[in-house]
Amino acid sequence: MSDGLTFNETLYPGVQVSYSCDDILFQDRSEHQDLVLFTNAVFGKVLMLDGVTQVTTADEFMYHEMMSHVPLFAHGSPRHVLIVGGGDCGLAEEVLKHGTVETLTQVEIDRSVVDFSKLHFTEFNASVFDDTRFELVIADGMEFVAETDRKFDVVIVDSTDPHGPGEILFSQEFYSAVHKCLTPGGVMVTQNGVPFLQKDELVTSIARFGRIFNDAAAYIAAIPTYFGGHMALGWASDHAALRDVPLAVLEKRFKAQGFQTKYYTPEVHLAAFALPRFIRDAVEEG
Ligand code: SAM
Repeated sequence: MSDGLTFNETLYPGVQVSYSCDDILFQDRSEHQDLVLFTNAVFGKVLMLDGVTQVTTADEFMYHEMMSHVPLFAHGSPRHVLIVGGGDCGLAEEVLKHGTVETLTQVEIDRSVVDFSKLHFTEFNASVFDDTRFELVIADGMEFVAETDRKFDVVIVDSTDPHGPGEILFSQEFYSAVHKCLTPGGVMVTQNGVPFLQKDELVTSIARFGRIFNDAAAYIAAIPTYFGGHMALGWASDHAALRDVPLAVLEKRFKAQGFQTKYYTPEVHLAAFALPRFIRDAVEEG
């Protein structure tokens, strides 16, 4: 929603976050959603889909590093990775920093998000499109995981919130289909909202993971764009040991990859699984 000078995020009833807009760079209504890209003095370039902030150039590294490096370093030798959603391709860039990754498949429902991100978010996705390991599939993530015979070591669900096309990506049916696509020792990570404002989303997802996976958990990251405190990232695997990789092992794996990060460190990785009590209660309720 815009009055010409501001864009208002209206995801939560009773709360509104207003961004001043310096410049509208792109605005369109695709087959799937309303899309706007504008600039803001604090957050840089801001992408909103259906009035909900998706990514900003100022803090994308916090979200993308924690969504990617935590499962990839926990796994230790990820070769085949699947991203569901993730249209801005910032997550893909982080995944491709891992030399062990041989293929990265990204299934995104809306080509227009990728097309304009390729034009407007070169700050964080420029290296993705020429990487021969990267394959973009324009399709519904639910249909893809239900139909594919391929197996992945890590599946990362970088979805919109559970409204519109993203709703199916929070369903029992979807999590079961992802489970079927994972290699033994594999892990799924999901964007699971901000527990202070979206507790039910976390409780519901964890309950659904628990019906299928041996280990259903969450970890946290604080990301200014997703206001309201910590964001929860869902974690589902058949191997609980993946959450307890010793610090020395994570440090060795991180060092071996030889890239720099701005948020992720092996210490932050392990600490992210220590949940504030109200979030732990929500996970245990699930
Ligand atoms: N980081 C963001 C957040 O936390 O809200 C999510 C960013 S990313 C841009 C979300 C992407 O999921 C969008 O590009 C959207 O088009 C895509 N998406 C939504 N539903 C989908 C579906 N069913 N299958 C594949 N992609 C989907």
